[in-house]
Amino acid sequence: MAMFGTLTDRLADTFKNLRGKGKLSPADVDGTVREIRRALLDADVALEVVKDFTGRVRERALGDEVNKALNPAQQVVQIVNEELVTILGGQQRRLEFAKQPPTIIMLAGLQGAGKTTLAGKLAKWLRSEGHTPVLVAADLQRPNAVTQLQVVGEQAGVPVFAPEPGNGTGDPVKVAKEAVKHAKSKQYDVVIVDTAGRLGVDAELMKQASNIRKAIDPDEVLFVIDAMIGQDAIQTARAFQEGVDFTGVVLSKLDGDARGGAALSVASVTGRPIMFASTGEGLDDFEQFHPDRMASRILD
Ligand code: GDP
Repeated sequence: MAMFGTLTDRLADTFKNLRGKGKLSPADVDGTVREIRRALLDADVALEVVKDFTGRVRERALGDEVNKALNPAQQVVQIVNEELVTILGGQQRRLEFAKQPPTIIMLAGLQGAGKTTLAGKLAKWLRSEGHTPVLVAADLQRPNAVTQLQVVGEQAGVPVFAPEPGNGTGDPVKVAKEAVKHAKSKQYDVVIVDTAGRLGVDAELMKQASNIRKAIDPDEVLFVIDAMIGQDAIQTARAFQEGVDFTGVVLSKLDGDARGGAALSVASVTGRPIMFASTGEGLDDFEQFHPDRMASRILD
């Protein structure tokens, strides 16, 4: 994966130095852990995550599971793999559907994070799974947002609930509430609510998102984050966690060639699972996120 190319190469080099060694001395372990630490920091992984991660790898690598292993070097690679799965959230977490439809999914994130695109991707995927989703344009901030969602809805073959033309400066909380009522009456079984984003975290925006959350009580709140934003990821994720208490994370632009630190930090820092990955501009460039597969790709 382009995003993790350098990290993958660096880790491979680190492991190469271990290969062929019989028992590993504490100095071997320390040297390896130091290189892993540097590689992760250079990939923009948040310092607190790196510290935790390398601490656990070191402890395990010095313990019996490596000491007694037939191939200690391979055992260290296995430990790094398992710990990567852990920081990526452990088990795969699937979307949770409401017992009583409609299931309400709210999207939140900075402007340009990929929310509207994701709304279309989710809708198309849900439709292919036999659901009947409706998209809701509750981003009334950006002049083109409603039109953009309508275009995406058309591509996905999914209807869009939007405020009447000329009413574009309306109240997004009201729009979202009406949309849920509409979905119930028309028997749509999933409501996907696109909300407004700003270029930076913004108190007013957060209040609005928080008010929408309170008004419609969503089953899932997905925080969409651009995997290319680097070190800002953590601060942004924390602000949204405080503001809208999201239930899951969507990594977008995983097809980019940034350093991937956001992708590797955000689940660990927020304690919320990464549920989906967006990997391009097309509506099919979308996948359910599997921590174990991602770890394997990084170590490949
Ligand atoms: P929003 O402001 O959060 O609704 O973001 P948009 O959905 O409008 O996306 C912003 C830009 O990023 C658009 O040009 C999208 O085509 C692009 N984009 C969204 N998701 C992805 C992705 O996964 N990969 C790439 N390469 N581009 C994406």
